[in-house]
Amino acid sequence: MAALETQLTELQKQYDDFKTLGLQLNMARGKPGSGQLDLSAGLLGAFPSYKLEDGTDARNYGILNGIPECRNLFAGLLGINADRIIAGASSSLNVMFDTMASLCLFGTGGGKPWHYYKFEGTPVKFLCPVPGYDRHFTICEELGIEMIPVPLLEDGPDMDMVSELAAKDPLIKGIWCVPLYSNPEGVCYSDEVVDRLASMETAAEDFRIFWDNAYGVHHFEERTPLKDILAACESAGHPDRTYYFFSTSKITFPGAGVALVASGEKNINELKKHMSAQTIGHNKLNQLHHVQFFKTPEGIRHHMELHAKELAPRFQMVLDWLEREISGTGYARWTSPKGGYFISLYTKPGCASRTVELAKNAGLTLTPAGAAYPYGNDPEDSHIRIAPSYPSLEELEKAMKLFCICIKLAATEHLLKEEKEN
Ligand code: PMP
Repeated sequence: MAALETQLTELQKQYDDFKTLGLQLNMARGKPGSGQLDLSAGLLGAFPSYKLEDGTDARNYGILNGIPECRNLFAGLLGINADRIIAGASSSLNVMFDTMASLCLFGTGGGKPWHYYKFEGTPVKFLCPVPGYDRHFTICEELGIEMIPVPLLEDGPDMDMVSELAAKDPLIKGIWCVPLYSNPEGVCYSDEVVDRLASMETAAEDFRIFWDNAYGVHHFEERTPLKDILAACESAGHPDRTYYFFSTSKITFPGAGVALVASGEKNINELKKHMSAQTIGHNKLNQLHHVQFFKTPEGIRHHMELHAKELAPRFQMVLDWLEREISGTGYARWTSPKGGYFISLYTKPGCASRTVELAKNAGLTLTPAGAAYPYGNDPEDSHIRIAPSYPSLEELEKAMKLFCICIKLAATEHLLKEEKEN
């Protein structure tokens, strides 16, 4: 106990010293840093022409599903059939919300609108691999879809649990997936997981996989392969099971790039019908500029190598600090992703909220503890999402020094409390 008290006093002093610096650091969201944004500066310049290959004037209305050259570019990049892509909105989250909302309003494949069940008093449910992306969970909350957490393992969701739940409950209508460098774990789905998702029995005929491949080309070094879910669903006899989402938010400019949804033929026709009531067409000039800027899928891949050069040192710095300050203490464990935007850190149970609070009070804003769980409820109060992309390396160094003190301080407070109680 005495040793812990001495440690607490020492850590408290280090923490108080930090507080006097009046820092204002932010590692809350996965925002690209300014160096990354500068890589796409060419998109802000003048473009050679506003004519499409077939002579269409891109300045005018039309082409609801996106200009062919843009769909072809992403088809080549992602290995998807260009006819099954609707491209053009500027945020994939927006497309996910609209897709979910149209399922609630209209249903799919002749099934009842999902909100029918809500108004009958038995809302539909979605499987949510955890930890996961907080904004997916917000979509469900906003639309009144119940969320069932499922553990995310090293190679994807716990498929034994997913298959069992999906097979027995017709109100389970789907699952959220971030299949490459998942937010926030950095998990990449194995071929086996992709195949099981595509082929599993589901009690709901209108079961849908929301496949958010937000980090599909965001490798640091080696390119981790990802099995083609749309092809796997097709060969398993479920061609319309998956909606595949992607965007250039973390390739060019967040919220000002190009987003897409791809799916089976029936789903795409349904979506186009709803979309045609919503808009006459998306921003074709932006689509064309992206095509003119990148030219080929290889152009995008090369661009992502430049992003990796910005991101990898930031991730390394976080990992180095954790290794140096925390490893061997038993106060936390963390992930070492090979791409994407996040590192997950697990404190001792009961310490995550306190760690985040301490950081906040000393000027470092982190994602709220628990945010990566449905309803913000991390039952262990242990998970913290680290987003190293936005701060400069200099700021990150300060942020990590402070963060490590906060981890140790929260753990020491917790241990002392436990000792006093025993
Ligand atoms: N999906 C995931 C998994 C994300 O992490 C993010 C951004 N943080 C988004 C979607 C948002 O994408 P967009 O900007 O295209 O809406």
